[in-house]
Amino acid sequence: MAKYKLEYIWLDGYEPVANLRSKTTIKDFDSFPTLEELPMWGFDGSSTRQAEGHNSDCMLKPVAVFPDSTRKNGALVMCEVMNPDGTPHPSNARATILDDPGAWFGFEQEYFLYKDGKPLGFPTEGFPYPQGLYYTGVGYGSVGDVARDIVEEHIDLCLDAGINIEGINAEVAKGQWEFQIFGKGSKTAADQMWVARYILMRLCEKYGVEINWHCKPLGKDVDWNGSGMHTNFSTDQMRDVGGKEYFEKLMAAFDKYKNEHIAVYGPDNHLRLTGLHETQSIDKFNYGIANRGASVRVPHSFVNSGYKGYLEDRRPNSQGDPYKIASRILQTIATVK
Ligand code: ADP
Ligand code: MN
Ligand code: MN
Ligand code: MN
Repeated sequence: MAKYKLEYIWLDGYEPVANLRSKTTIKDFDSFPTLEELPMWGFDGSSTRQAEGHNSDCMLKPVAVFPDSTRKNGALVMCEVMNPDGTPHPSNARATILDDPGAWFGFEQEYFLYKDGKPLGFPTEGFPYPQGLYYTGVGYGSVGDVARDIVEEHIDLCLDAGINIEGINAEVAKGQWEFQIFGKGSKTAADQMWVARYILMRLCEKYGVEINWHCKPLGKDVDWNGSGMHTNFSTDQMRDVGGKEYFEKLMAAFDKYKNEHIAVYGPDNHLRLTGLHETQSIDKFNYGIANRGASVRVPHSFVNSGYKGYLEDRRPNSQGDPYKIASRILQTIATVK
């Protein structure tokens, strides 16, 4: 028997963007616990905008468990929030995702490292060099002296946790970075994205650095990049059957439900989806082959293999909830026969 430190993680009830919350419980196990071995737990929902004070219990249901290499015998336990009667809490978007082991998602998470209210590496007054050399850049002038430590450690902690992080890159603005997570199964990548966000935020505590997830942290009136969370998706049907006719029906459904998609693609997206800088405007839907100015980019490989494979929805932003995004995409796909 060993004492395991279980960090139960959940999303609170704040709108429009939920915050990550977590607390530790110590339990005895013979070896690293499986999901089935992890008990339900509870918390005070009146402190997280999930309940009234006079009836404040909310339940935590473990849904995914990851090794936490920052702690001896540590585990990160992603949870769904449930009502005391066992039904999903209204804030629980994960519970709305259709179960589909054949649905695959790849999220490209962009974000800014922030220090003292500014992107990491910005001077006290004014701005650093204009954008140009920061994207995939190297050297102190482009990435500074701390960012590399953070992003490297983030990769290692994610890999230790068994999270399927696929890569990182420095982004267009100074202090801006990206990581990608891919998962098979309708909820896998979204679970891993939330835990990877958690790991990054916790890691940055010791650097005195915050993550700014906003999609346009410097505003739309200056020439500094916004942050997205491009969502790449495919289903069995898309990968194995495909075809131009099915693809066109799918895109017609995405057009029909464009407002429902935008509603869950992250707040303030009008600041980012302006039609400029590799974006489509927020009120239009289009798709284009290899077109980074489209709402949905169709990779060359998709067309070349007979309209089979994955598509990239470029509209979700960096503050979007991957649970809500995956849920909406699968709901729209399900309307197409
Ligand atoms: P780019 O920056 O050019 O858009 P990235 O390499 O950052 O490309 O992201 C591409 C994403 O697409 C990755 O997360 C990858 O895992 C994902 N992806 C690749 N194949 C599939 C697939 N069949 N289904 C869903 N997502 C996929
Ligand atoms: Mn990318
Ligand atoms: Mn990017
Ligand atoms: Mn992309």
